[in-house]
Amino acid sequence: MVLKLYNTLTRQKAEFAPIDPKNVRMYVCGPTVYDFAHIGNARPVIVFDVLFRLLRHIYGDKHVTYVRNITDVDDKINARALRDFPDLPLNDAIARVTEKTANQFHADVKALGCLEPTVEPRATDNIAQMIEIIEQLIAKGHAYRAAGEVLFDVMSMPDYGQLSNRNLDEQQAGARVEVEAHKKNSGDFVLWKSSTAEEPGWESPWGRGRPGWHIECSAMSARYLGNVFDIHGGGLDLIFPHHENEIAQSRCAHGTSVMANVWMHNGFLQVEGEKMSKSLGNFVTINELLETTKFGGRKWPGIVVRFAMLMTHYRKPIDFTESALWQAQLALRSFKAAARNFDGRRELSPGFVEALEDDLNTPNAIAELHRLQAAAKVEMQNLHQRAKSPGALFDPAAFSDAAKLHSCLEFLGIDIAKFDPDWPQKQLVSTDIDSLITARLAARKAKDFKESDRIRDELAKMGIALKDSKDPATGEIT
Ligand code: AMP
Ligand code: ZN
Repeated sequence: MVLKLYNTLTRQKAEFAPIDPKNVRMYVCGPTVYDFAHIGNARPVIVFDVLFRLLRHIYGDKHVTYVRNITDVDDKINARALRDFPDLPLNDAIARVTEKTANQFHADVKALGCLEPTVEPRATDNIAQMIEIIEQLIAKGHAYRAAGEVLFDVMSMPDYGQLSNRNLDEQQAGARVEVEAHKKNSGDFVLWKSSTAEEPGWESPWGRGRPGWHIECSAMSARYLGNVFDIHGGGLDLIFPHHENEIAQSRCAHGTSVMANVWMHNGFLQVEGEKMSKSLGNFVTINELLETTKFGGRKWPGIVVRFAMLMTHYRKPIDFTESALWQAQLALRSFKAAARNFDGRRELSPGFVEALEDDLNTPNAIAELHRLQAAAKVEMQNLHQRAKSPGALFDPAAFSDAAKLHSCLEFLGIDIAKFDPDWPQKQLVSTDIDSLITARLAARKAKDFKESDRIRDELAKMGIALKDSKDPATGEIT
């Protein structure tokens, strides 16, 4: 099998051929550190972590460079700094916001079982590189100065819009947006903007100012991966304008025909069938999911969240639901029962690797895990049979499916040894159970059987079965 990846740029799935198999290079847009990451943000981190692991498996651990940046200069960060630390000088306030948010992000993604990227550059450490690219763009006639800004001139690039399939002429003809007075074209975007004394800024040939968002990733990817590299990733929402504009900047500055050969985008995540938003009250941060009872009334282990995320193919939209998390919990529980004794030996099942090599088909890879689990159960039954016959010898080869299951889980970043199958019960204190039982009895008395069934199901998910009977003195008891 060979690795095949879907490429947003060509709109096709094709065989992946790295520029240099000794150094396969991938860039993924990282978080803007102004607020805690939400569970939608967790999706690209997990998806590209699995791809990173797969590339390391194919090309060797030392032959893959994965860069994921931290955007620590952004007007949203400034606003947050002013709001949260009004008494501090702005730069100190910004440092506090970015430090706290970046630390939280690292703790979150670690709990979700993600490896650290090879390099994690910060925008603020790469300002000189950004200025250099902007100077190149001006020198080559792709950028101009206007009203204190430096802007990219989209008309200077005849094939602008390939990634998002936008045609400049169409954009012009149908343009409803009023062109801001200083722009030559409504699609022109900011490379550099001037800062007031109160705003963060760096000295540049165009005065004290700060970079636009897109230029950051052009500068950081070129610095660590070169002008042309293998894979660039992020969520679907980044295709336009962010990735389109990264491509425009990088290609025009470096005079290349592509920036990255393969562009990969994960689908969006919604919560219980609705778009996640603060106003709907269904907005959940990774931290809230793992450390509080905001989602489904309990804390969820990172391993369960990670597995639930991988049950959907990365390009499809994902509906993040409590029931999907329970499904993940049940699967992991059965895997643990089948694979628990097998540590150390590394043997992947070919079907599992093939599924991942087919554009990261994690649902098919998980189907293979279920197959291995069933086979491992049979192995165990056979062992019990044989153990009854006199002189039976322990044969490790008889556990090859259990060993494979263990290895495949480990490959996906699931350390099954650390998974506690009984965590749901442990989270509940007995008073919670009692109050649920009381509520259910009350619902039954009120003939609200829908509610009483719901509570029974909820308890069943926690591994608690109820039995009803009649007490001659008090009536119904549970
Ligand atoms: P941001 O901090 O908004 O730039 O987002 C960081 C990453 O999370 C980007 O790759 C986004 O595409 C991705 N992302 C944001 N919201 C969602 C969502 N609801 N579902 C999936 N990915 C998302
Ligand atoms: Zn980016």
